[in-house]
Amino acid sequence: MFLCRQYSVLVLNKPESNSQPWAESLVSPSHRIFRELGISDQINNLEKDCCIPSIGIKSYWGNETPAYSDAFRNPDGEGWTINKPVFIRRLQQITRTFPMRFQEGTLITVKNESSQWKIGFSDQYGNEERVTAKFIIDASGRANILRKKLHLHRIRKDELICISASVERFKEQCLSTIISDENGWWYSCPLPGKKNAMLISYYTDADLVDKKAIQDPVFIKQLLLSKKAIQNKLEIKEFNEYQYLGIRAANTSKLNNIGERNWIAIGDAAMSFDPLSSQGIYKAMVTAAQASKLIIAADFINIPDIERTNTFYDAFYKSAHNIWQRYREHHYHFYYMEQRWKGSAFWDRR
Ligand SMILES: Cc1cc2nc3c(=O)[nH]c(=O)nc-3n(C[C@H](O)[C@H](O)[C@H](O)COP(=O)(O)OP(=O)(O)OC[C@H]3O[C@@H](n4cnc5c(N)ncnc54)[C@H](O)[C@@H]3O)c2cc1C
Repeated sequence: MFLCRQYSVLVLNKPESNSQPWAESLVSPSHRIFRELGISDQINNLEKDCCIPSIGIKSYWGNETPAYSDAFRNPDGEGWTINKPVFIRRLQQITRTFPMRFQEGTLITVKNESSQWKIGFSDQYGNEERVTAKFIIDASGRANILRKKLHLHRIRKDELICISASVERFKEQCLSTIISDENGWWYSCPLPGKKNAMLISYYTDADLVDKKAIQDPVFIKQLLLSKKAIQNKLEIKEFNEYQYLGIRAANTSKLNNIGERNWIAIGDAAMSFDPLSSQGIYKAMVTAAQASKLIIAADFINIPDIERTNTFYDAFYKSAHNIWQRYREHHYHFYYMEQRWKGSAFWDRR
C-alpha cells in the first residue's frame, strides 16, 4: 500500500479457504500504521462482527493471583479483538481502493531470469497468467512460498501448536484470559462475529500431546472437564454451542535469509512469533511499512546500482535483526516469569 505511491504493484493473494470465525488481538500501536496509510477512519468504522475494542487481559502467569492489564495507561489507546477472516476481507476491500492491481490467485512458478522475475499464477477461475517483475516481496505468512522456490531454510525454535474451540460466552465476559499450566497455556477471548461466543485455545508442544487425541473435536472439552480449576478461571460454566476450531502451528521460526538483490520476505514469511506476544499482525505491518519506506528511499528498483542496493539491504537486515532480538528477549522474559513447573518439558525448553 505504501509502495503503490511510487511503483507499479501487483498483489497476488490466495483466497482464504477457511472462513470459520477466529479471534486474534490487534495491538494498539497498529493505529499508527493505519494513520500513515490514511485509512484510520475506515478501520475505526468497522462493524462489530469484524472487530471489538479489547478492554484488557486477566493473566494467571507465574502465580495463582490474577494480574490485570488494561488500555487506560497505553498512549496508543485500546487495541482490538478482531474476527480475523472478516477483518482480512475488509482490509482487502480497502486495499482495492489503492492504485494497484489486487489479484486473487495462487502462485505457481517463479523464476529469476536476466535480473527479472518471471511469475506464473492461476487466478480464482483457474486461468493461468504470466507476468514479469523487477522485485518480489514474499508476504505469504507461514506458507513462505519463496522458501521452496529459492531453496531457503527455515529455523524453528520450538514446536508450539494451538488447539481451539468456541463455546458460549456469558455477557459479563469481556476480558481476555491467559492461564499457564504444567504443559502449556490457555487463552480465551470474546469471538466477534459469532453471537455470544468465546474462543478458547490451548497452546502446547506438538510432541507433548497424543497426535490422534487432539484431532478429536471434543479434545478441548474433555481436557477442560479434567481441569476444573482452569475451567473455573476461564469462567466456562457449560459447553453450550461448543465448536471445534482445529489445530494450528504456532511455533517461533525464522528464515535463514530474508532477502537479497531483488527479493525480500516480510511478516510471518520472514519470522513468526509465539502468539503469547500478540505481536504477529503488528510485526507484519511494521516490517511491510519499514521495508516499503527503505525501498522508496534507496529507489534501487528503478536505479539498480550496487550502492543503492547495499544501502537498502543493510538497513533492511538491521531493522529485521532488531525486531527479532527484541522479540527473543521478551519471549525469554515472559516464559522465565513462570517458575512453578520445573522439570516440565514445556517450561524447561523455554
Ligand atoms: C494460533 C495463532 C494465534 C495467533 N494470535 C495472534 C494474536 O492474537 N495477535 C497477533 O497479532 N498475531 C497473532 N498470531 C500471529 C498472526 O496471525 C500472524 O503473525 C499474522 O497474520 C502474519 O501476517 P502475514 O501477513 O505475515 O501472514 P498471513 O496473515 O498468514 O497472510 C499471508 C497471505 O499470503 C497469502 N498466500 C499464502 N500462500 C499463497 C500463495 N501460494 N499464493 C498467493 N498468496 C498466498 C494468504 O492467502 C494470506 O493472505 C497468531 C498466530 C497463530 C498461529
